[in-house]
Amino acid sequence: MDPDVLVIGGGNAALCAALMAREAGASVLLLESAPRAWRGGNSAHTRNLRCMHDAPQDVLVEAYPEEEFWQDLLKVTGGITNEHLARLVIRHSSACRTWMRRHGVRFQPPLSGALHVARTNAFFMGGGKALVNAYYRSAEALGVRVRYEVPVERIELDNGRFVAARLEGGERIAAKTCVLAAGGFESNRDWLREAWGRNARGEWPSDNFLIRGTAFNQGVLLRHLLEDHGADRIGDPTQAHMVAIDARAPLYDGGICTRIDCVSLGVVVNREAERFYDEGEDFWPKRYAIWGRLVAQQPGQIGYSIIDSKAIGRFMPPVFPGVRADTLPELAHKLGLPVETFMRTLDSYNAACRVGTFDHTALDDCHTEGVTPAKTHWARPIDTAPFYGYALKPGVTFTYLGLETDDTAAVRFQGAASPNLFVAGEMMAGNVLGKGYTAGVGMSIGTAFGRIAGRNAALASKQAPAQTLQALVATEMGAQHAAA
Ligand SMILES: Cc1cc2nc3c(=O)[nH]c(=O)nc-3n(C[C@H](O)[C@H](O)[C@H](O)COP(=O)(O)OP(=O)(O)OC[C@H]3O[C@@H](n4cnc5c(N)ncnc54)[C@H](O)[C@@H]3O)c2cc1C
Repeated sequence: MDPDVLVIGGGNAALCAALMAREAGASVLLLESAPRAWRGGNSAHTRNLRCMHDAPQDVLVEAYPEEEFWQDLLKVTGGITNEHLARLVIRHSSACRTWMRRHGVRFQPPLSGALHVARTNAFFMGGGKALVNAYYRSAEALGVRVRYEVPVERIELDNGRFVAARLEGGERIAAKTCVLAAGGFESNRDWLREAWGRNARGEWPSDNFLIRGTAFNQGVLLRHLLEDHGADRIGDPTQAHMVAIDARAPLYDGGICTRIDCVSLGVVVNREAERFYDEGEDFWPKRYAIWGRLVAQQPGQIGYSIIDSKAIGRFMPPVFPGVRADTLPELAHKLGLPVETFMRTLDSYNAACRVGTFDHTALDDCHTEGVTPAKTHWARPIDTAPFYGYALKPGVTFTYLGLETDDTAAVRFQGAASPNLFVAGEMMAGNVLGKGYTAGVGMSIGTAFGRIAGRNAALASKQAPAQTLQALVATEMGAQHAAA
């Protein structure tokens, strides 16, 4: 029998949608393109979600009020965000964890050495893999049908109304309503090449990108919706969450352990051994996601993070050991960098350091004077052997080009909301994230919109009017206050 709600995708946003639709009484079929062992998309790689809270809450210390969360988002996006939707996501993040726990997700405080986020981010016990496994278990227990290895190739629409999905191989699946939660296009190397084009040096920068997560987010449906159905688009195809990761990481699915988190403790040079950006601009959780892009703009799309032994023990050790040397010229030599320029760069940086009271947990007063680019915090001379270097490449986490939506999560065509086609997660994250990133907000967006998309798909299948995310948040916050 045709399901009431068809959910396309198998990560956090899809699972939140499937669970909410089922809880609202709809029959649900979820289609995941990956095999069961690889289910869960990028969500399986995650560790936490960013949460607003006005007072300490279980694993979250102190407070992280709505305004501070909003200002953080405003700063990283440079204002390219939809304030209404962003604030809804923020408010939703303060109330959603009770529901998440009900479906088996467990939280824990961050391990020491994580990105100073005990106040802002709730960590999943067992990471994102445990989260998606819990959601799949709960969904199956509630009667959600799940099919694996069924990539959806296209969908049939009638005047903006969802009719059916077509799988690779031709199978047709009709449903009363549909939620699209099939990720961005980050895994599609051809599309990345097309988006990034050729630079002034004649390079195709994206050929040197690594993909941090799943190989299954090929953007097939995103492109189909935008190009064949004329869905309203949001975002720039070159904007993405991009981290500088270990250049030795695999092409796909290297995940979190390939991230190099010592940038703010040292300096970063390009292959010409020149520094190119303020390594101490802000706290690492607020800055780590700009470094992929910065490295992407360098010759050969490669950078080198250089630290000395003072940094050891102050950051999460990466999975591969760094290149180690007892002197700086030896380090440059081992990294294949021009030794003379490297020494000039390091000597002028070291001489420019004005060391006050070093404190990596605060925007401290250790800074440089008279060197360009400046290092505005945590600037200490790199002078204590042994020295370490890590080659960095751009690691794409997820792309921001997506489908424009509103607070009902409806897909829109020429400004009109579809009555029965909804979108969640990376496929619409660009509504909130025009550029930049602040750690944990991907899961906050996917959880908020996954839940409202699922609820509204279930309502639409019964021909009831769609609810807004605002109404869902108000109900859940009300329930939380009543319980407190
Ligand atoms: C290494 C890494 C670490 C991260 N850490 C964090 C973190 O700690 N906190 C945070 O907030 N965010 C984090 N993110 C970002 C986060 O993963 C995403 O924001 C979020 O998971 C997006 O959820 P989603 O459901 O939209 O996409 P995904 O989880 O990627 O799910 C997309 C799903 O769609 C399926 N699919 C794709 N195409 C089709 C098709 N044609 N037919 C059927 N199925 C299809 C895929 O197989 C996949 O299951 C991280 C990402 C990576 C890669």
